[in-house]
Amino acid sequence: MSQYDYDLFTIGAGSGGVRASRIAAGFGAKVAVAEEFRVGGTCVIRGCVPKKLFVYASEFSKTFKAAKGYGWEVGETSFDWQALIANKDAEIDRLEGIYGRNLGNSYVETIYSKAIIKDKHTIHLVNEGRDVTAKYILIATGATPFMPAIDGIEHAISSNEAFDLKNLPNDIVVVGGGYIAVEFAGIFNGLGVNTHLLYRGKKILRGFDQDLQDGLMSELTLAGLDVQLMTDITKIEKLDDGLLLHLTNGETLKTDAVMYATGRVPHVLGLGLQKLGIEQGKKGEILVTAQSQTSVDNIYAVGDVTDRANLTPVAIREGNAVAETLFNNNPMAVDHSLIPTAVFSQPEIGTIGLTETEARKQYEKIDVYISNFRPMKNILAGSDSKMLMKLIVDRNSDKMLGVHIMGPDAGEMIQLIGITMRMGATKADFDATMAVHPTASEEMVTMKVPTR
Ligand code: NDP
Repeated sequence: MSQYDYDLFTIGAGSGGVRASRIAAGFGAKVAVAEEFRVGGTCVIRGCVPKKLFVYASEFSKTFKAAKGYGWEVGETSFDWQALIANKDAEIDRLEGIYGRNLGNSYVETIYSKAIIKDKHTIHLVNEGRDVTAKYILIATGATPFMPAIDGIEHAISSNEAFDLKNLPNDIVVVGGGYIAVEFAGIFNGLGVNTHLLYRGKKILRGFDQDLQDGLMSELTLAGLDVQLMTDITKIEKLDDGLLLHLTNGETLKTDAVMYATGRVPHVLGLGLQKLGIEQGKKGEILVTAQSQTSVDNIYAVGDVTDRANLTPVAIREGNAVAETLFNNNPMAVDHSLIPTAVFSQPEIGTIGLTETEARKQYEKIDVYISNFRPMKNILAGSDSKMLMKLIVDRNSDKMLGVHIMGPDAGEMIQLIGITMRMGATKADFDATMAVHPTASEEMVTMKVPTR
């Protein structure tokens, strides 16, 4: 009989926490997970999943437009935001149910409560007013939207609220130039909202390959978005019929709603970390070893709260590794290199490996192959939207260093490219692979002459 109530107590039933809990229980550990909101976490409840449903919804307007070129006469169309929200909510409820059942079927106890770590083995369950003890504690509390402290910020929303807006605004301003900003700007624009994107820097998607940054920028403009660079909001004024935004360029912009997508911060507030002496970084992120151990030896942390690579599949792998390390006698660390990732902007982006700028810094000589073309489907559709494929190759070893794609299904493509990259693919491997015709991805194996 263990001296503790549980072998593992997980705080947060999101992607990382659920995976760690289920795998640990599968190894015979007695596990409980505390969740203060909804089982499934950000990704399922108010992130990746509903976002992708919104992207699908918003793409119909383009499809209706394209249909004519293919002989279809599409009559009057109209869009019902409330219907989308209701169907999205039903799907999220269904997924939440599956997550909950999976925990139960794995013999993990789910406790709906805020949890505070009292000491290294004691957790206080706020909603239930009691303490429990555990040999190991796992913090998997994720991250939460960051809203800059400007005058009138209380009138702005974040992506959290965007998923449940009562009505679709006629006009919206999205602030930021990262993943969430470009994704939501595309969603609102596709749904027929007059959309403005305000970004404080010179190029959106900071840190991405420059051709992706430039490519998406021209596509957003082509799609009719009002993108204003080097622009930020200094003050938000509430009017009777909307919001008046005061901008850094001295101008004002009247709109119905403003959504901030200005990054996310680790969700650590009120967990009791400082008292325990758990080391944190500048943004409040929990500092961990490669095996996700915090500075307190029996306390681990995974996912966005550790601010390593803030992506669902990464949190899942980290959770899995903690369970293997603690309960299967199999110390495991997650390899955070070569992570393929997608941005569900319109058009979509898929990217892996080094950007051209990074590759030029790290390698003596590189070859860059670029193919920029109108995908076949767009021709009859009468759309000028382009597709971009870019390969970055180390000239000495012929190794593929980076692959960057913008265009339809880029996310699907980069998943498979990711396998080749992990296997150490060379340009010669790509060249030796037979093309699949007619596809867009065949460009990837038919680029013969370096662009630069
Ligand atoms: P990002 O860090 O990607 O982008 C934040 C943006 O906000 C940047 O453009 C940043 O500008 C800007 N910004 C930051 N602070 C301010 C400020 N005070 N005033 C004005 N602008 C500001 O964060 P997101 O919120 O878009 O997404 C959070 C994380 O969630 C991502 O890093 C990603 O890991 C994950 N995510 C992944 C998705 C996917 O895989 N498809 C989808 C959505 C989210 P600057 O560049 O100048 O710093």
